[in-house]
Amino acid sequence: MLRGRTWSLLLLLLGGLALAYALQNAFGPTKRTVPYSELVTALEDDRVREVWIGAAAVEAKVVPEEGTGSDGDAKTETWSAQRVPGFDPDALIEELETRDVTYSGRPESEPWWLLLFWLIPLALIMLPTLLIGRGLRGGAGGGPGSASPMSFGRNKAKLYDESAQIRVGFDDVAGVDEAKGELTEVVDFLRSPGRYQQLGAQIPRGVLLVGPPGTGKTLLARAVAGEAGTPFFSITASSFVEMFVGVGAARVRDLFKQAKERAPCIVFIDEIDAIGRSRGGLGAMGTNDEREQTLNQLLAELDGFESDSQVVIMAATNRPEMLDAALTRAGRFDRQVVVDRPDVQARHAILKVHAKKIALSDQVDLELVAKRTPGMVGADMARVVNEAALAAARRGSERVEQADFEEAVDRIQLGLKKRNRAMNQTELERIAVHESGHALVAMGSEHADPVHRVSIIPRTIGALGVTLQLPTEDRHLMTRGELADRIAVMMGGRVAEELVFEEVSTGAQNDLERATETARQMVCRFGMSERLGAQTFGKPAGLRFLDTPVSFSEERNFSDHRAREIDLEVSNILQAGVSQAREILQSRRKVLDAMTSTLLEKETLDREDLDALCSNEERADSA
Ligand code: ADP
Ligand code: MG
Ligand code: ZN
Repeated sequence: MLRGRTWSLLLLLLGGLALAYALQNAFGPTKRTVPYSELVTALEDDRVREVWIGAAAVEAKVVPEEGTGSDGDAKTETWSAQRVPGFDPDALIEELETRDVTYSGRPESEPWWLLLFWLIPLALIMLPTLLIGRGLRGGAGGGPGSASPMSFGRNKAKLYDESAQIRVGFDDVAGVDEAKGELTEVVDFLRSPGRYQQLGAQIPRGVLLVGPPGTGKTLLARAVAGEAGTPFFSITASSFVEMFVGVGAARVRDLFKQAKERAPCIVFIDEIDAIGRSRGGLGAMGTNDEREQTLNQLLAELDGFESDSQVVIMAATNRPEMLDAALTRAGRFDRQVVVDRPDVQARHAILKVHAKKIALSDQVDLELVAKRTPGMVGADMARVVNEAALAAARRGSERVEQADFEEAVDRIQLGLKKRNRAMNQTELERIAVHESGHALVAMGSEHADPVHRVSIIPRTIGALGVTLQLPTEDRHLMTRGELADRIAVMMGGRVAEELVFEEVSTGAQNDLERATETARQMVCRFGMSERLGAQTFGKPAGLRFLDTPVSFSEERNFSDHRAREIDLEVSNILQAGVSQAREILQSRRKVLDAMTSTLLEKETLDREDLDALCSNEERADSA
């Protein structure tokens, strides 16, 4: 097999020759193909000046008929005549000798040159392929197969194994204890698969890391490999589909083949939403066949594993809601690990990890830095530390001081502000009040789900803060009281803002939407309105295409009069929710304020913190 460099040279050479030929053709004498008889006539007329005898054709320099007699050799043409059957070169040569015409033999050149016309387009096709093939090899950790242009189906999967210098372990990933806890099992399995097999336990085959950008998903996946000491194939999903049609699927196949050969190991597909976006549905017109093929191949590979294979597939995404449902089905990426934005404590931990790499002064208070950086993620923290070190270097100092950190935080916050991600203090205050409102109403409503955690750090993607309620048991049925309480809790955020700031904000939009939808369903679906009674209104005509709703319009089967009544009932239910929330919050205003300030300080409050707050307040009241 030719090596890449040889191929490139060869192609360059061919290209050059082709160019030369084309130029010669364009500017050199034009050749005219003539019948052999015409050539003979010209010879007899003494108009032939020179002859080349080839194996298939005879070429000649001829003075055209009209040119005879004027100024001799001035005008000549090159003729080419095919040899006739029974052509006798000796006879021709004899004739030429007698007429004193220069003649020479010529190797048959035509077919050789013609070959170029085949080779040039071929070369043009091969050249990019070749370059890509080389690029792919360059990124890969060696392995079988050379840089032959035919190996471009091989993927960009990078293989980190134990010998790689970049060793990442769980210690390098800070502040994501929940996620680490869930991944310990995977590590354990990869370390001693035999133990699990002996028990007949099925280890989750696919683990999906979900979280906002920069929270350490990629880092975490590598840490799992580092902890387990297994090879780690990592590939970004977008690189599956970037080049040629059909290559994506081939790359997936190849990746999994390599992985099976190296088991036990981890295959990590980063930013899987690039290929895993849901198929069909609203985007049906603009579907990307290549992406779909790749996705289908991936699904096939995920299904094709024998239950005892020791390959763990991990993937990461920051848009879990966009993923095709087929990917998250049981037996595929059925275990999801959430990697959240860090709160103060977590940010402190991350800072400590990164600060180990720099020369830190003892005066630096990293906890203070953590407090000053709400909303920032792990990647931002890494940048803060680096910027601080750079600031110290600019000062010519040997140690990184607190002031350097202040400067770094300002610098990075400025950048984040431009991208609208940093939160200022007043915004944070409002979010704290809002979330405390949700939590307090939930705690004060009989049928509401217990509050699990309150946070002013955006915990789920898209929401500013979040109050996480855990349903006590899996629900299939909900009573009217439970739904009404649920609406009251949703209103709690907005009502708290009203109480504290005497003004609401846009932050409650999603709450309102959900509350309104719940109320409307209570009236129209569940017959829970006393006035309208046990009846449903409207038919959801959600036109579905392959399980994806295409149209959300509802079929209306009631009168205008009824429509007005429905609207009225919906707003009554919502109003009742607001009143309930207001009552609770007004009567526990002190707890609300205490919770707000604690939340601002700690950013996250869990069950115990909340209970402590409430009992503190009760004690204060009774005293
Ligand atoms: P993601 O894949 O979630 O977008 P990355 O894993 O690429 O984020 O994180 C980028 C960088 O940010 C990491 O290389 C690391 O330096 C830093 N980082 C992010 N999260 C953490 C964390 N939890 N602990 C330590 N460093 C982190
Ligand atoms: Mg990443
Ligand atoms: Zn809210």
